[in-house]
Amino acid sequence: MAFQLPALPYAFTALEPHIDARTMEIHHDKHHAAYTNNLNNAIAGTEWESKTIEEILANVSKISMPVRNNGGGFYNHNLFWEIMGPNGGGAPTGDLMAAIETHLGGWEKFKESFSNAATTRFGSGWAWLIVTPDKKLAVTSTPNQDNTLMDIADVKGTPILGLDVWEHAYYLNYQNRRPDYISAFFNVINWDVVTAKFNSAMK
Ligand code: MN
Repeated sequence: MAFQLPALPYAFTALEPHIDARTMEIHHDKHHAAYTNNLNNAIAGTEWESKTIEEILANVSKISMPVRNNGGGFYNHNLFWEIMGPNGGGAPTGDLMAAIETHLGGWEKFKESFSNAATTRFGSGWAWLIVTPDKKLAVTSTPNQDNTLMDIADVKGTPILGLDVWEHAYYLNYQNRRPDYISAFFNVINWDVVTAKFNSAMK
């Protein structure tokens, strides 16, 4: 069963003015579609065809660069669309906020370290908020389409929030102003979805 490009769970215009409709359309319909197709082509006829994306990512060092790049691209964008939304922004509450206070020094400190991870990722990549194997929150970043589920990752864990800092994610609207895109991102984070991912990763 080939991997399917998921439908965007809201309209291309839904995240405006923070992320413009044209960027969303190209990003989902062209970039994410290409990662999905290329992943399917790269695993066609191999043992990995019948595995979950998580199983593939956990073994990616044994497979191939096309699977690492496109499997990462497939998974990362699935997560990215999910954790944003038109009624996003604000701050989390409950156990997630308590964990941010305990493990990351509080809300302001978290925003600073996440933004810093996204700003300082040289070239293309992602910033992440993850739950580590010992059930702590951590902020990290990865190059290209790598992520923290991959066996090759320096810092491993379950991503619950991710920010795409490839230029294709922001260039039409923000050009070279990556920091402006990063601060705008905080207005579209769907903390209900991130909280559900946190709760599931903590089990
Ligand atoms: Mn992207």
